[in-house]
Amino acid sequence: MPNSENTAANLDTSLLANVRIVLVNTSHTGNIGSTARAMKTMGLSQLVLVDPIDKPDGKASALAAGAGDVLANAKIVSTLEEAVQDCGLVVGTSARSRTLPWPMLEPRECGEKLIGEVQKYPVALVFGRENNGLSNEELQQCHFHVCIPANPEYSSLNLAAAVQTLCYEIRMAFLNQSRIKSEPNEYPLADDLERFYSHLEQTLSKTNFIIPQHPGMVMTKLRRLFNRARPETQELNILRGILASVDKSIKAKD
Ligand code: SAH
Repeated sequence: MPNSENTAANLDTSLLANVRIVLVNTSHTGNIGSTARAMKTMGLSQLVLVDPIDKPDGKASALAAGAGDVLANAKIVSTLEEAVQDCGLVVGTSARSRTLPWPMLEPRECGEKLIGEVQKYPVALVFGRENNGLSNEELQQCHFHVCIPANPEYSSLNLAAAVQTLCYEIRMAFLNQSRIKSEPNEYPLADDLERFYSHLEQTLSKTNFIIPQHPGMVMTKLRRLFNRARPETQELNILRGILASVDKSIKAKD
């Protein structure tokens, strides 16, 4: 019997139920079906569709083949924020580098990081539109970006092929769990981070550091800074406390 099967039998497969695959604004339902199949072959089951152009149909079911259960259980939500709000780690995928560089992971590291953290909270891997990938705003909601180092002359994989490649790395990390260091820190969930960013923006608007009519790139750059530092839950609470104290002193002066 192959070694990996021996190992898989002893592993807690419920861990994989906390790894979420998110497809944003998909235009071809066939890709949704092929994604379900790619996921199931690698032991994953949680598919979330953000505002798909068409809901899963017969074409999706045909391409899902034996993964009809993953397709049937797919959750449909309207925003990426909703799809990842309870996740402690969100990784976005991109076929090309963007104007604002972001912390990057290699596909192998990505699998290891997702498996290293999934023991603490749900984690998500986010895929973009067939025609133009993820928007900058969506990419900025991710802690890390991962790029499959494909042929530089033609690096854009079919959506479900990209899902298959990265889910394979998740599976490899899952099978090699004993060699993967689990994350020792307590990180906030995406929802708490988003609340912090809105609070920061509101307070900086009150102090006039940000002029709402001309916000510029300040919030994007601050998101990148905090994202890079990756504050722990307690550190984020301190930052929220600092903002509250600024709010209070502004109010006292009014
Ligand atoms: N033209 C788009 C590519 C979209 S491909 C663009 O330039 O962004 C559809 C999706 O498949 C991407 O959003 C990404 O989620 C995934 N994908 C395709 N190729 C990839 C690669 N080389 N690395 C990581 N993800 C990739």
